Amino acid sequence: MSINIQAYQNILQEIKHKSTLVAVSKTKPVEDIKELYNLNQRDFGENYVQELVEKEAQLPKDIRWHFIGHLQSNKVKYIAQFVYLIHGVDSLNLLKEINKQAAKNNRIINCLLQVHIAQEETKFGFNESELHQLNTLEEFKNVNICGLMGMASFTDDMQKVRREFENLKTIYNKLSTYHLSFTTLSMGMSSDYKIAIEEGSTMVRIGSLLFGARTYNK
Ligand SMILES: *Cc1c(COP(=O)(O)O)cnc(C)c1O
Repeated sequence: MSINIQAYQNILQEIKHKSTLVAVSKTKPVEDIKELYNLNQRDFGENYVQELVEKEAQLPKDIRWHFIGHLQSNKVKYIAQFVYLIHGVDSLNLLKEINKQAAKNNRIINCLLQVHIAQEETKFGFNESELHQLNTLEEFKNVNICGLMGMASFTDDMQKVRREFENLKTIYNKLSTYHLSFTTLSMGMSSDYKIAIEEGSTMVRIGSLLFGARTYNK
């Protein structure tokens, strides 16, 4: 197993000044992460709590770990000490638990609210009207809600993907007018990051283009 250095450099070139690259290393060995780390990559994304905890223990402490998977409340405690940004906050209960665990660790944890933009039933997240009703966010002193995250439909119809990203950007802009801490719009993966950047993404999450196809996909 080895990383695709050419792809890495191309992506950096393409997203320059517009978007931050989160290298999604789920299911990939620490050796691959080290290879990218040695090229100066510092933002890495993982989907599974146990896998993240194991990797974090073995890798340099200046890595910024992004949790991009579906996070269960009862597992927040395992990553609260070190996680840099939690992308998929999809309920107030989860936010409460992150706030509690962050306080225990004397930290403020960065979070993105996940927005349901795809038509598929399976994607987690808030819808737009739910987001507008979230006026209690300031209560949470140990979380910094710095933006939104979304995933487009899994489809070959790139016009549809574009519309979904465009929709998310519109929601982001509206919410930014009263959530002044908003800085980050996390959208775009290997198959659609170019479209995401055109539609205003500030953070892309790319796995298979860098690390190769995954042999399992939970
Ligand atoms: C796995 C995953 C990615 C990366 O997907 P690739 O298609 O391999 O780039 C990005 N975002 C989320 C939420 C993921 O689960």
